[in-house]
This record gives sequence, C-alpha cells and structure tokens, in this order.
Amino acid sequence: MLISLQNINKIYTGDAENVTAVDDVSLSVDAGEFVAVVGPSGCGKTTLLLVAGGLLGPDGGEVTIDDVDPYSLGTEQRARFRAERIGFVFQQFHLVPYLNVLDNVMAPAMVTRDPAARERADSLITRFGLGNRVSHRPGQLSTGERQRVALARALLNEPRVILADEPTGNLDGENSQEVLQTLQSFAQQGGAVLLVTHDPDAVAFAGRQVTLANGRIAENQGG
Ligand code: ADP
Ligand code: MG
Repeated sequence: MLISLQNINKIYTGDAENVTAVDDVSLSVDAGEFVAVVGPSGCGKTTLLLVAGGLLGPDGGEVTIDDVDPYSLGTEQRARFRAERIGFVFQQFHLVPYLNVLDNVMAPAMVTRDPAARERADSLITRFGLGNRVSHRPGQLSTGERQRVALARALLNEPRVILADEPTGNLDGENSQEVLQTLQSFAQQGGAVLLVTHDPDAVAFAGRQVTLANGRIAENQGG
C-alpha cells in the first residue's frame, strides 16, 4: 500500500475551544490508484492531506507512505523522504515568489541534490508548455501556468505518491482537464494519487471516491 492512514485523529487546540479536524479516519491508496476525497469546506480535507504528507503530525493513528512512517524520521531525514517520495500540490500553489519557473520546479532537488534533476526539470517544463516562461517569476504567470509549475515541481523527483489539495479549484475547464489527466496518468504508471476536492469534474477522474463529513468518513465508493 503506497498510502496508508490508520485511525487518524487530528485536533487543533485553541484558547477558546479545540477543533477535531480529523476523527478516526482510515484510508489506503494502492499503487495505480487515484482516490478523491470530497466533502464541504471545513470537513478536514486539507488537514488529512497535510497529515498524509508528513507535514502535520497526527494526534492519534498511524501514517505510512511507501511503508515508511514519516513521523518516525528526524527532521532532515523526513525532508529528504518527502522530497523523494511525495509530490505535494498545494491549493494556493505555494510557489516561491522571487524564484523563476525553472528554480521553482527545481526546488525539491535542493534537498536531494540529484544531478539528473535538471534534465527532468527541462523535460517537465517542455511537457507543460512552460518553455517560454522559464525565466518568469510566479507573479508574471497566469493561474493555469502557476498550477502547471506547481505540478511540475511535484513531479520533479519522480515521487511514488502525489497529494493534491483542490488542484483545480482556481482553474478553468481546459486547465483543469490537463491537471487531472496528468494525475490520472501518474496513477496509471503505478503511482498513488490522493486528491482532495469539491470539484465534481475532478471526482470523475478518480477510480474511487471517499466522502468526509465533520472529519469522519461518511461514504467510501467504487472499491
Ligand atoms: P477543509 O480543507 O475540508 O476545508 P480543513 O482541514 O482546512 O478543512 O479544516 C478542518 C477544520 O479544522 C475546520 O473546522 C477548520 O476551521 C479547522 N482548522 C484548520 N486549520 C486549523 C488551524 N491551523 N488551527 C485551528 N483550526 C484549524
Ligand atoms: Mg482545504
């Protein structure tokens, strides 16, 4: 199982009240699978994805990605593990504003220092139609172009797993289709995709759909 979440709990503690964002969620995604997690705003989708991605430790339960618990690793090892195995596509892209397209796509190689990364970056940039944008900064790009940069960055280190947070939320139909097709082909080539969304078009690309409500799994359809 490439992504395994077992009985995950996540509680945000605040001054006034605690919020149980994820409540006893178990979910697995195998190699070759594309799973969509849907549910209304505030149901815990982003929190679940951050926990799966090694970015936010759960308060209970166990996470393994490619059979490794990222939270069992030290900070540096975990950063390296994430850079090598996990491609994370953030909802608001999280591109570095002062870096150009090439350097944004290359960012995960700063952790791995893989000498072959530059060649892969060039080929991803070409594949995503960004060849005439390599020296542009994110602020000079359209929303669709920014999303393609974010996707190219996620794919740079040939991860086993892609975690995508509403990757089509800011895109028009054509750009959405392109992003979804890229995720679908990543899964078809043996990767695992966990996508959170409330976009019905995005759900149509997934092989399986899981519905979250108030931090809990309400429905698990299609396998
Ligand atoms: P979704 O992505 O489905 O909109 P989130 O995972 O962002 O849901 O949020 C789930 C719940 O946790 C919401 O009630 C939200 O207000 C709360 N929440 C999210 N992030 C934080 C945080 N950093 N601190 C406190 N509460 C948070
Ligand atoms: Mg969210």
